[in-house]
Amino acid sequence: MHSVMKQLLAVCMFAAAGFSARAQKAEYKWNELPVRGLLMSAPAKQDVGVFCDFVRNALPKEGVNTLAIRIEYGYQYKSHPEVAEKNALSESDVKQIVKAAKEAKIRLIPTMNLMAHQSEGSDMGPLLKAYPHFDESPDYGPPVPWKSGGMFDFYSKSICPRQPDLLKVFFPMMDELVEAFEADALHVGLDEVWVIGYEKCPRCGGGDKSEIFAEYVNKLHAHLEQKGVQMWMWSDRLIDGKTTGLLAWQASMNDTHRAIDRISKDIIITDWKYESAPLPRDTLR
Ligand SMILES: [Zn+2]
Repeated sequence: MHSVMKQLLAVCMFAAAGFSARAQKAEYKWNELPVRGLLMSAPAKQDVGVFCDFVRNALPKEGVNTLAIRIEYGYQYKSHPEVAEKNALSESDVKQIVKAAKEAKIRLIPTMNLMAHQSEGSDMGPLLKAYPHFDESPDYGPPVPWKSGGMFDFYSKSICPRQPDLLKVFFPMMDELVEAFEADALHVGLDEVWVIGYEKCPRCGGGDKSEIFAEYVNKLHAHLEQKGVQMWMWSDRLIDGKTTGLLAWQASMNDTHRAIDRISKDIIITDWKYESAPLPRDTLR
């Protein structure tokens, strides 16, 4: 799902829930849910002040107590400055946001993308520009021209979860974000992984995709757990797109869904949908 669309979706879902709460009153107790969250893109550097005002003034009024912020490569990582985007937030920018969140009693959760979404359209993301050997499919997708014949043809680049140097880059970045945001949880992304177990990957080709996915999820989780940090991730790779009819974005059509029985039960799974999610809604009544 396109990043901007996902942000809009989060805002819309929140607004829809608020309307529902007013409409149903006693039946739908939004304000009693333990996590009343919003997902937003990180502000541009010049908008940090406005963003902080929004956190201080708007979010508490709406009952929001948790704010996930999509940082990804938009932070000036000291451990890996080579993957920081232009105009990335500095530590002092982040500290302003942390201060605003504390004043508003809002839990901040920095969000990364640690598997897919390493390219968008024909543009390679900063990680694979700096570390092209982390690419699960160097011969497939941008910058090499690829077919564009249909929705299942190609979506976004993924890292190889078994590349031996990958976590030497990701772990220090994860630690830095947790520290800068003074966070007790980190959202690692992992949505829309289309390229996994690629047949030409010397480490993953021919492997069980659910096993490859679960193995990687558990490595990330073990790193965070030993630091006392809760791991959050997206739900879609853990849902069978065929039996649910949710297909390839909101769910998995590439045989990763069996990973759900192989990953730690301590992980917080965050669900997202283009429209409503009927089963969770029923459980709230
Ligand atoms: Zn691989």
